[in-house]
Amino acid sequence: MASGKPVVILGVFVADTAYRAQRQPRMGETILGNSFKLGPGGKGSNQAVAAGKLGADVAFLTRLGVDAFADMAKRTWKDAGVKSAAIDTPDSYTGAAYIFVEEGSGNNAIIVSPGAAMLITPEDIEANADLIRGAGVFVTQLEQPIDAALRALEIARGAGVTTILNPAPAAKLPDRIYALCDYLTPNETETEELTGLKVSSVEEARAAAGKLLEKGVGTVIVTLGEKGALLHTKDRSEHVSAISAGPVVETTGAGDAFNGGLAAALSRGVEPLEAVRFACAVAGISVTRPGTAPSMPTSQEVEALLA
Ligand code: ATP
Repeated sequence: MASGKPVVILGVFVADTAYRAQRQPRMGETILGNSFKLGPGGKGSNQAVAAGKLGADVAFLTRLGVDAFADMAKRTWKDAGVKSAAIDTPDSYTGAAYIFVEEGSGNNAIIVSPGAAMLITPEDIEANADLIRGAGVFVTQLEQPIDAALRALEIARGAGVTTILNPAPAAKLPDRIYALCDYLTPNETETEELTGLKVSSVEEARAAAGKLLEKGVGTVIVTLGEKGALLHTKDRSEHVSAISAGPVVETTGAGDAFNGGLAAALSRGVEPLEAVRFACAVAGISVTRPGTAPSMPTSQEVEALLA
């Protein structure tokens, strides 16, 4: 796939540290775990890796500490062809997530400490305004402070850059953010949080998406897990079925694969419905593989699935 116009993604990297054990330790207790796995995570970073592996020209804007996890972040991005626009923050630390996985049930309990990424300010965004203005597509989420996301969306919008807000994790949004979004890409839970409407079917997603359009969004894309995605604008509403690429192994990161795929396709000028289909294929492949960032496919793999 040709690289298209630049994609700039603002967001968070965290190192996922996953421990498997029979049970959680009680307070004051130490137990032996069964296994440990370290991997790259953070929604924004995963989305950048997805778009980068698809061949898009991607830069990732964040804050990192100056430590081993920062090195891991930069290596992850380099391997995926993502340019780092990370600001070093020596007096903080690179974000990390403690993920406890219960052996047998697979249930998990997680602590996320975002570290330096929580210190991203509107001034950081101003300092990178030219990077954002030079993009064809700008993407952000809600893991870093919202005032930084807002400022970045304003700058992007002011320069005619296509904007995508993935409103994850679920949170209430300030009213003025909606009109800055060409695309809003909530999953079912996030759509419920934003609208107060229940969303468990395509029809319910359509009703809720209508409410989000009224708030000023250009195009709402509700991701519906194994039911695919709904593209909803004032002129059309199209349900795109999920695209299966084999048995499902792990759905964590499916939303990130979808958003990275959407950004990559839009940056090449692909029309929105086709871009949603492409994004479903990217996510459809990612769920057949373990891990988040490592599960992202190449454009050749996606094109082979869609052929
Ligand atoms: P996560 O939080 O697990 O990263 P999400 O809740 O943000 O995911 P979903 O709506 O669950 O996002 O999934 C995003 C996209 O991934 C869907 O629109 C769909 O295209 C694809 N997808 C998810 N689950 C499956 C599945 N079981 N089979 C095929 N595709 C899937």
